[in-house]
Amino acid sequence: TCGICVNSCPFDAIEIINLPSELDDDPVHRYGDNAFSLYGLPTPEPGSVTGILGPNGIGKSTAVHALAGEMVPNLGDHAADGDWECVLDRFRGTGLQNYLESLKDGEVTVARKPQYVDQIPNQFDGNTRELLERTDERGALDDLVDRLNIRPVMDQDIDSISGGELQRVAIAACLARDADFYFLDEITPYLDIGQRMIVARLIRELADDAADRSMLVVEHDLAILDLLADTLHVAYGEPGAYGVITDPKSVRNGINEYLKGYLDNENMRIRPSAITFEEHAPRVASRSETLIEYPDLTKSYGDGEFELHVEGGEINRSEVLGVVGPNGIGKSTLAKLFTGDLEPDEGELDFALDISYKPQYIDIDQHMRVDAFLASITDEFGSSYWNTEIAQPLQLERVMEQNLSDLSGGERQRVAIAACLSEDADLYLLDEPSAHLDVEQRVRATTAIRRYAENHDATVMVVDHDIYMIDLLADRLMVFDGEPAERGRAAPPQEMRAGMNDFLADLDITFRRDERTGRPRINKPGSQLDSQQKRDGEYYYSG
Ligand code: ADP
Ligand code: ADP
Ligand code: MG
Repeated sequence: TCGICVNSCPFDAIEIINLPSELDDDPVHRYGDNAFSLYGLPTPEPGSVTGILGPNGIGKSTAVHALAGEMVPNLGDHAADGDWECVLDRFRGTGLQNYLESLKDGEVTVARKPQYVDQIPNQFDGNTRELLERTDERGALDDLVDRLNIRPVMDQDIDSISGGELQRVAIAACLARDADFYFLDEITPYLDIGQRMIVARLIRELADDAADRSMLVVEHDLAILDLLADTLHVAYGEPGAYGVITDPKSVRNGINEYLKGYLDNENMRIRPSAITFEEHAPRVASRSETLIEYPDLTKSYGDGEFELHVEGGEINRSEVLGVVGPNGIGKSTLAKLFTGDLEPDEGELDFALDISYKPQYIDIDQHMRVDAFLASITDEFGSSYWNTEIAQPLQLERVMEQNLSDLSGGERQRVAIAACLSEDADLYLLDEPSAHLDVEQRVRATTAIRRYAENHDATVMVVDHDIYMIDLLADRLMVFDGEPAERGRAAPPQEMRAGMNDFLADLDITFRRDERTGRPRINKPGSQLDSQQKRDGEYYYSG
């Protein structure tokens, strides 16, 4: 196989492919006979941010256990206990030598942010303040709490705060520590773009602030990874079987090679085809049959605690409508107006659509197997059509027999997307489908959603904060702005270019397109390009 999928190949006939030459060598660590083997280690670099880009299940956590000194790698001889001297011998003369020497001498302290923040409430009883105060080793907690906007939930119980709040609390708890090595396993799930930018800046500042701190970040939002990291390791292999972590690359080359599916230095194909972005022509909605037309609407909660103004517009049949805007701005409220679950204060809706809804925080913790759950939603379950359209691109084969409550975050996300698309509905609304999916899975989910819309004449609205996903997915864009938790305004759906310009102008961020691959890249704030594009009012598409 090409090393991306274990059981079946979602792409047609693959002939491949040179085995990586790394596999001729002994692995850095092997868990047992025929068990997972890890080749290569990332290189923590004092004073800088190192990124890792690659699928889940490829050995990133294993590598971090080693770099945190919690496990001595056995260099493939799993009968022997690992020995730091041997590991040092292996990495002598490489960028890892200094780091491993300090590690061997017990001089490395580690702070980490776990991948699945949803599990924190199971491990910690108490409120936000109690959790955070134990981590305040640098005296930086107050600043972190303010900049991450955690103050409003300081006295709330950890098990009562939202996923986006948990994510920011977990990041603050990690960055508040005084460590030599910081490991952050995904920083963006449940955060909007503004919050993602703030987190990226905090990590950068911490790396720049003291020359002996190393930051290692696993991240699947490529725009953020691109902005944040100084160097990048690509990870590839076969999830669950083996993983290879490459030598460090420049961030630009690393991401470009990853998207291209071919690693230049390694002379290694990791995917049969490239992930491509349309360079200058954003998709123009072709069909214009209207699904719904709606007038100006308002809706407020309580006595005006939150107020949403919706400008009237229309949604086309079988289009994919991207929905962007900060958290707490009224996106879910609009969905509830469309379903009829909420009545507008002003304006009238003379329809109630059947909406199939995938919420942002997925709550399917029943004790039920995945196959039984999905079969209870659609009669099509198990048909070859359903398998091709839904199960295969979402890689559900491997989880069908598992219990919903045992699924990892990424598995749960894919089951929830499948469940949403399997409903019979007028409008499909997916709230943050990218959360916890790796890049490969995001691209597949995107393909599945697009194909589903085309083949079923289905209309899909996708709320997401991953610009790459929105760029690949959406025909048109609906932009929300305002003041989160106070007031929101929903603009009518508009073309991608105009919509992205409005959205990014509000955030004061500009994007350019990578010359080689056409992928969107965030301009460094204050750079010449950034200023030029702002002057021209071209926040998204330049050139
Ligand atoms: P990632 O962090 O990239 O998702 P991990 O390092 O957590 O990957 O896991 C890589 C593989 O190693 C997985 O298939 C996992 O099941 C396996 N693995 C992890 N820990 C152990 C262990 N203690 N014993 C055996 N296999 C393990
Ligand atoms: P989004 O989906 O954009 O994140 P929502 O529509 O869920 O935003 O919420 C917008 C604002 O309205 C938030 O401040 C939220 O706390 C508030 N809100 C949502 N539902 C209710 C409700 N039933 N009662 C009071 N306030 C609510
Ligand atoms: Mg919402």
